[in-house]
Amino acid sequence: TRATEMSVPDFIREVVEISMQQARFAQVDFDLDLDESMPRISASATELQQVLLNLVNNAIQAMEPDGGKLFIRCGVEEGQAAITVEDTGPGIPAANLARIFDPFFTTKPVGKGSGLGLSICFGIIHQMGGEIDVESTVGKGTRFTIRLPLPMPAR
Ligand code: ADP
Ligand code: MG
Repeated sequence: TRATEMSVPDFIREVVEISMQQARFAQVDFDLDLDESMPRISASATELQQVLLNLVNNAIQAMEPDGGKLFIRCGVEEGQAAITVEDTGPGIPAANLARIFDPFFTTKPVGKGSGLGLSICFGIIHQMGGEIDVESTVGKGTRFTIRLPLPMPAR
């Protein structure tokens, strides 16, 4: 789908709205820190939504059954648009961390996870000229960071 100019904070609020029921059911609270003054980005909204929903779904599932917090932040970092999705779930062991973006890698029971979510996210973000990274501490939680190019400043 085509790229359009979009407000990242508006876009994140939309994703939160979509995920609200699921989060409430799973006892997950959202905590948003959105830089309203960041420049708009040019991106395919449907594809970026697919990426964010994947990350949010994974985080909510990871925090089952006790729930937890889901921090979503956006702003400008090192000249790029940055979006982070951070949970207070169980974290990802180092041996798995290297493989989570691989297609079909899943730790979920058969029928529960395809293992395709993060590989699709990786493909979409790289196709947009961006990057997606993960940091995780077992017992503390996991943080995914997406970085996307900002438009050239007008002059
Ligand atoms: P799926 O959700 O179908 O398993 P994904 O590609 O979305 O496939 O994720 C791959 C694996 O990465 C998951 O099975 C899980 O082990 C791990 N993972 C992804 N996100 C998180 C998270 N927020 N916390 C803990 N583990 C995660
Ligand atoms: Mg998934």
